[in-house]
Amino acid sequence: MNIAIVGTGYVGLVTGVCFAEFGLHVTAVDTNEERIARLANGEALIYEPQLGEMLRRNLRQGRIQFTADTARAVRESLVIFIAVGTPSKDDGSADLRYVEEVARTVAGNLNGYKVIVTKSTVPVGTGRRIQRIVHEEIRAGSQGVFDVASNPEFLREGSAIEDFLRPNRVVIGADSPQAVAILQDLYRPLYLIEVPFVITTIEAAELIKYASNSFLATKVTFMNEMANLCEALGVDVHVVARGMGLDHRIGPKFLHPGPGYGGSCFPKDTSALVTIARAHGCPTRLVETVVDVNEQQRLRMVQKIVGALGASSDPGSLMGITIGMLGLAFKPNTDDVRQSPAVVIISELQRLGADVQAFDPAAMEQARRVMPKVDYREDAYSAVEGADALVLATEWNQFRNLDLERIKGLMRRPILVDLRNVYDPERVRLLGFTYCGVGR
Ligand code: NAD
Repeated sequence: MNIAIVGTGYVGLVTGVCFAEFGLHVTAVDTNEERIARLANGEALIYEPQLGEMLRRNLRQGRIQFTADTARAVRESLVIFIAVGTPSKDDGSADLRYVEEVARTVAGNLNGYKVIVTKSTVPVGTGRRIQRIVHEEIRAGSQGVFDVASNPEFLREGSAIEDFLRPNRVVIGADSPQAVAILQDLYRPLYLIEVPFVITTIEAAELIKYASNSFLATKVTFMNEMANLCEALGVDVHVVARGMGLDHRIGPKFLHPGPGYGGSCFPKDTSALVTIARAHGCPTRLVETVVDVNEQQRLRMVQKIVGALGASSDPGSLMGITIGMLGLAFKPNTDDVRQSPAVVIISELQRLGADVQAFDPAAMEQARRVMPKVDYREDAYSAVEGADALVLATEWNQFRNLDLERIKGLMRRPILVDLRNVYDPERVRLLGFTYCGVGR
């Protein structure tokens, strides 16, 4: 079966490569021609474990091809997945311009029955909007019959391939039994390993994605609030998290406190859910508060750093201070810095006058584009040279066992602000550091 994936970012590329791995013939499309040329050359472009080898293997075996010609890809495919970005607009709602652009191109190139599937995270009602756009084009003379389906993606950056090949569930929203049957067929290898399928309406599938991400963001934020309370009460948040997580109704995951959630999904999806709910006259007050508390949490981390340095939060208060920042990506095993807490914290520290030296194992190229004024270093040790404080912002494995004696010798002042609670406070203090974690 021939399928097209439109958009070759984190989701489109992983989806395309994994469907090729399932044995399908995939045409992956992007408007960014340089991206297409490099992908066709076997460069994975994003940092994602296993992706590069799998891409090159499927290219060699002729199951995946890359093109900037969306029209051709549509004409040659039975199923078209839309996997383009749906960034936040200024009012928090999802910007659907790329999705609609693809829908119009698909509509103009229908040459037989097609299934148009949204894999991008899109507001409830987008599937119907795509149906309307395509119907209008058909009235204008285009040929063909089609169905629209929603098949939201739940992969996590950093373990995207694993998540795609062994997901917790596959959600398919469609009105047409034919569209459902075709999508089930695409995912047949997952049936064999007994992955649960949720077959539902387009609207329910669209909402499942936002509800899932907003719930996870709420869980993280709840724990961050507990961590802040633990600091006030002199209690260790990790003991509280363990005590809570052993309750099966709560579960141990997503109870780790830190600098607030980030990345390309939780911030934009929580904001989008808030605007969807308001537009339907049914505000989600809980999620609105989560968005607000998460923003405060990042600024609270800046206060923590300023406090550890014995400085104030007045503009210019950190003039002459150097911060060594370890980690820029919003989480380990990715190079994605979109809405990364590290980026927000660095820009705030710079606003207060600090100089920032940073190292990240994968995200420095991406970070340079958004933060040109950071002094990027080649490893963790050179990032802390002459620093007044070391801030650990992303828990990459290689930061878990740093030679702290050596670090202490390199720093101007031995202050460790551990925003991911990676280090044992007692041990670090015994080495002569001032240690500051989150909720302990
Ligand atoms: P991305 O920004 O990494 O990639 C989007 C790609 O689409 C870009 O390469 C862009 O050039 C391309 N594009 C834009 N307009 C196009 C057009 N008209 N034709 C062809 N290509 C076009 O985005 P992403 O992180 O892959 O996210 C895509 C969608 O999937 C979003 O809705 C996102 O919310 C959702 N999602 C993302 C993740 C994640 O972890 N990144 C997980 C689940 C769902």
